[in-house]
Parts: sequence; C-alpha cells; structure tokens
Amino acid sequence: MRTLHHFHGGIHPPTQKSQSTGTPIATLPLPAKLVIPLHQHVGNCAIPEVQVGARVLKGQRIGRPEGRQSSAVHAATSGTVAAIDMQTVAHASGMPDLCVTLIPDGKDEWVTHAGVDYHNASHTELRHMLREAGVVGLGGAVFPSDIKAYSRHHKITTLVINGAECEPYITCDDMLMRERARDILRGAEVLRELLYADEVLIGIEDNKPEAIAAMREAVALDGHRHMEVIAVPTLYPGGGAKQLIRVLTGIEVAAGVRSTEKGVQCFNVATAWSVWRAITHGEPLLSRIVTVTGNVEHAQNFEVLLGTPVKDLVAHAGNKADTERYIMGGPMMGVDLPDSGVGVTKATNCIIAASPALFPPPPPALPCIRCTRCTDVCPAELQPQDLYWFAKSNNFGKAQEFSLFDCIECGACAYVCPSHIPLVHYYRYAKSEILVRDQDKRAADLA
Ligand code: SF4
Ligand code: SF4
Repeated sequence: MRTLHHFHGGIHPPTQKSQSTGTPIATLPLPAKLVIPLHQHVGNCAIPEVQVGARVLKGQRIGRPEGRQSSAVHAATSGTVAAIDMQTVAHASGMPDLCVTLIPDGKDEWVTHAGVDYHNASHTELRHMLREAGVVGLGGAVFPSDIKAYSRHHKITTLVINGAECEPYITCDDMLMRERARDILRGAEVLRELLYADEVLIGIEDNKPEAIAAMREAVALDGHRHMEVIAVPTLYPGGGAKQLIRVLTGIEVAAGVRSTEKGVQCFNVATAWSVWRAITHGEPLLSRIVTVTGNVEHAQNFEVLLGTPVKDLVAHAGNKADTERYIMGGPMMGVDLPDSGVGVTKATNCIIAASPALFPPPPPALPCIRCTRCTDVCPAELQPQDLYWFAKSNNFGKAQEFSLFDCIECGACAYVCPSHIPLVHYYRYAKSEILVRDQDKRAADLA
C-alpha cells in the first residue's frame, strides 16, 4: 500500500457535486453560432488563416500557432466564417480578443484527418501532432501540451495524472473518468512514453468512488503495468499540481521551482483523453466537457463545441429566471463572466449560474484581527495577512519579497477569514500592478 503525504493547510468547503453527476454526459445540439477565440492558451495568439465568407470544415485549422509557445485553433463544425473581429471573451478582464465567428451549416462535415500508431511515430512527430491539434492543459492552465510533454534537462521519473478535481461544484473530470477511463489511460501512456517516465500515478479524491473504480478497472483491463490509481483524501485545494505531487510522492516543489526539476510532470485527465484522440484519431481539440450547475433546473455535464455561447449552454440546462451572473470555474477560483454571449473555450470546465439566494453577497469586510487563521490553511505556506497589508498599501516590493507570486489564488484564506476580507482580490490586484510596472520598465529600458 502506497504511503500518502500531506500538504500544508487546506479546507473542507461543501462539495456541491452530486447535483451534476446524476446523469451521463450529454451532447449539446449544434448552436446557431460559434464564437471561437484565437487565444485560448498560454502563449502567443494564433494567427487567423481563413477569410470572412469562407466555408470551413469541421476540424479545419482556422488559427495557426505563432512562435514556439502557442497552439492551433480549429473550426468545431462545418460552416461559414461570418466575422473575424475583436469580441468579448470568457476572461475575467472583460477585455476583447480576436475571435472567428462561425455559422454552422448543420452538416458537421469533417476535414480529412487520420491518426497514427504512436509506437511507429517519433517523439518529434507526436509533439508536432499535439501542437497542430491544439491540445492544451484542460485542468485550467491551458498550457500547450506539446511543450509540457518534453523534458530536455531533467529525467522524469513520475508522471502524475490529475483527477483530483477538488473545487466545489465541478464534476467534468469525474464524469469523464467514469465514462472514458480507457482512453484517458491510453493518452496517459502516450505521455509516459514521450517523457520516458518510469511510472504513472493517477490521483483522484476519495469522494469520487465511481471514477476510482472505473479507472482501476481500465488499468486492469488494458494491463497498464506502469500505472497506479490512488485515492487521495478530499481536501481543498488538493487538486493543485504541487499539492497533488506532494500527496502522491512526498516531493516538495518549492517556490520558483518547476516540478520537472524534481523529476515529476503533471497532466489533467481531460488533457490525457485529448492527447489520445489527437494522436490515434487525428482529431483536433474541438470540444470539451463542461459542468453546468448552480441555479439551473438540470445540473449536468455536457460535451460542448468550443465557441458555443454560454447562454445557449445554460439555457439547455434550464437556466432559472433569477440568475444574475455566471461564474466560469468553481466558486473558489472561478471568475465572473463579463457577458453570457461569450464562447466556451478550452479553459471552460464549469459554468455556475449564480443567483442571490445561492451566492448571497458577502458581509462587509472588517479590519484584520491578526488571528492567523489564513496562515493555518494556506497550502503555499504563505503569510496571507501580510500579503494583504502589502497589497493594500501598494507596497509591491514587500509583497514580492513575501512570495506573492507563489500564491495560487485558491481562496482558502478568504474562506476562513472571520473579517470577510476578500483577500484574493488584493493579491490579484497586486500581481497585475507588478506585471504592468515590469512591462513599463522593460519598455522604458528599450526606448
Ligand atoms: S489564495 Fe494564496 S495566500 Fe490565500 S490560501 Fe491560497 S495560496 Fe495562500
Ligand atoms: S484570517 Fe483574516 S482577520 Fe485573520 S489574520 Fe488572516 S486576514 Fe487577518
């Protein structure tokens, strides 16, 4: 039996997951319009390579990767390009970004595509396929997977597949593991080969017994001798990469250190599934599983074409009249969407319809009483109350000195704060101010 380890802090918010796991993953009908952002990943925006008025096929590349850190974007169905312009996208900033608007023709006609037997392809070819297929981290990070699946300088001993899904309300990974376990593990095997990893540890929180059983059955069925499915204690934010690595391996990935330097790489379960589809079926990333929950009649998971307007998605789940806003992600780390017309992106794992009854406004913030409860629960072992003071007083140098950028914005500190201080807002503010100042300084140095 494997010995599990602990990370510092953590909390137990109500999980609110059972609402959306009662029915299988459903497929959303083809929407009347898709709004597909060309920048759905970490790195450079993809460059549009279609014209307004062009007919495109399902799976056809409509945005080519620009530079080393970028990713391709594709038409999620066949149809006509109606516009290529700046539109509001699913991002907290509310800033517009370049999007392709596609009017589906209802034929869902595929472009010619084919996969390969990964045993017969070079690693360079496989990584190129991932880049061309637009595969990025679907756990929220949206980092290009072709880059993560390569470790030039460090021997990777352990590949961690993250099925923890610790945030309340979100169940898309749980349902994916229940329904598509074998293909997730096949994708994990491709990643293991790409990284030359010795073992694959699949971490799933122990509040998902059906997913754990399905994944264990798939390991046995397909004889994955390098793999182990491990139930980890349910403790938020145990799905953070560093926290899960710590629990599974005991390895501490310190501030400013990459896990690969410690011989570990981590991918989300949905990413592993997309890797398998891309490599062996030649299918680009055109859709993802999205949990739709909260103030809706039928909370459920849907397979959703990228670019589907969020309002279409929530309408299908029976959105209730008193919904006042939409949260993308969970209640702890999610962001309010600027507009319900924005298209679903590769980062959209969950949409919560929020009503005043479900999410009442927080009480007014009171002064910090230095109780240190925030410190006790911080998984990054920071001093949240000090970071708060530094951010509030615009003392950004001190905030950096106290490792502001190691904060994963999990919200555990704010959750326990008896003074109801919206601590994460202060951290996000300080981080964005520091980044803007750094950019200004670089520009001034170059001038
Ligand atoms: S939001 Fe940041 S400071 Fe607060 S508990 Fe999480 S990691 Fe720590
Ligand atoms: S939990 Fe709130 S009141 Fe207590 S020390 Fe932290 S910021 Fe201050």
